[in-house]
Amino acid sequence: MSFFFNITYTYQYLYDMKPIVLFCIGLLLLFFDCSLDAQTNMFISNPSGLEILKGNYNPAKYLPAKLIQHPDTVRMGIIHEVSTIEQIKLLKKLETFYNRNSGSDTMSLATGIGACRTWILSYFDQLSKLSNNRLVTGYLEFDADICSKGHHKNPFAILPGLDTSNHEILVIEGHYDTRNEGRCDTVGYTPGIDDNGSGTVLVMELARVMSKYGFRHTILFTTPTGEDEGLFGAKAWAEYLSLQGIKIRSVLNNDIVGGIYCGKTSSPPSCPYFGHVDSTHVRVFSYSMGNDPFVNSAHKQLARYMKYVQDELINPYISTPMTINIMLGEDRSGRGGDHTPFRQKGYTAVRIISANEHGNGTGKSPDRNHTTRDILGKDLNGDGILDSLFVNPGYLLRNTILNGVVTGLLASAPEKMSATVEIQKNDAIIDLPAVYDKAEKVIIGIRKFNSISLDFDSVYVLKPTDKFALRLFSGQKNFISVAPVWHGAPGLFSDEYEVNLTGSVLMNKN
Ligand SMILES: [Zn+2]
Repeated sequence: MSFFFNITYTYQYLYDMKPIVLFCIGLLLLFFDCSLDAQTNMFISNPSGLEILKGNYNPAKYLPAKLIQHPDTVRMGIIHEVSTIEQIKLLKKLETFYNRNSGSDTMSLATGIGACRTWILSYFDQLSKLSNNRLVTGYLEFDADICSKGHHKNPFAILPGLDTSNHEILVIEGHYDTRNEGRCDTVGYTPGIDDNGSGTVLVMELARVMSKYGFRHTILFTTPTGEDEGLFGAKAWAEYLSLQGIKIRSVLNNDIVGGIYCGKTSSPPSCPYFGHVDSTHVRVFSYSMGNDPFVNSAHKQLARYMKYVQDELINPYISTPMTINIMLGEDRSGRGGDHTPFRQKGYTAVRIISANEHGNGTGKSPDRNHTTRDILGKDLNGDGILDSLFVNPGYLLRNTILNGVVTGLLASAPEKMSATVEIQKNDAIIDLPAVYDKAEKVIIGIRKFNSISLDFDSVYVLKPTDKFALRLFSGQKNFISVAPVWHGAPGLFSDEYEVNLTGSVLMNKN
């Protein structure tokens, strides 16, 4: 009896203590999660790189021979100078490293991740020589157990900004490691051309093109390691930058940005059916609370900014216009990427990925992702020339332009603005001159509650002296964002102002 009593008592005790027990279990899980993924001993191999990331430098030391910085001129330069020839050349070289698993060989000069990172860094160094030594290059090094290898390196090139006041950096990244069906296959042929040679050469090509130009803010070009084994390289960057107190305006993560062919098992939400081809859409994934389209986030506002820039400032100047699909989730179902560690540290980050993906990463035939078949293309008639390319050069080029133009504009754009919004009778009145007098224009984006679109339903470009009135209708909510434009460079959109006929104005932040 007393035994029974004790058990009952213990049960009751546990029940009463449930929140504490759960909390302790949570802590334990967190501890194990952290200990499995922990990056330790993080440092930048080139100390001046850290000082530039922090804004402690003299911009005059990093000027180009001829300073070109007007955002309109720079934008058109990026659109015209990104080269498919350069990118294909880089992809062919990447394929020669045979296996770029984070646990692969680091001694060989020809194959394995060690040879590959040496090559990426020496490429950045060559670019620096060609641009008046403007690029500050090196590795972010860290320790972590990835496929039995303990020490790892993320190659980078930093383009110092022209102005160190209100210092913020912008990040363009694409992981350079690869994997086969086996997570830790460190010896088998693993070309990883679409996943993620495409993102790697996107970063490398933009370092080449953008290092000719001047930007107000500093740009970090980097190819993290360890993505396919657990986002290790991006976690190291996010943690390191956050520990150093470095502010980031935007992170564009590129992972699978060259393929246009729909595989059999592509992770949803993706392409419509096996064999479908799409070279004119690209998906932008970003976090918002609970995947609710009416809950906003800085990440979603960045995705809307990208779509605005693509539609208004890129498409009129390229022969094949692109459409950005703003996606609801942070990534495909059950999948992840290098933007997430940055978001978890409070940075604004999105993932860019092809509309059509060749597989779900499990390495199952006939899909190509994470298999020996993720190659550049096929030589169909044996003449030594690739007749059929699996990475579409024009598509990769357009995704590269998107990254370069968005980051280039943001790197010279004014800070985010806020607005004065009030309800007067049936209208929401947005007062512009009171909020931003330096802007030559102000963009107003409006989403309507009854729309299923994640994008703005309407966009207006006004002079800062204009007063804007939005007619309100009964039962309808509207979300209003504002962005300043300076010398043709739009800034990021503000948080949303939620307005309706009841007269309230709420901020829609998260
Ligand atoms: Zn990948």
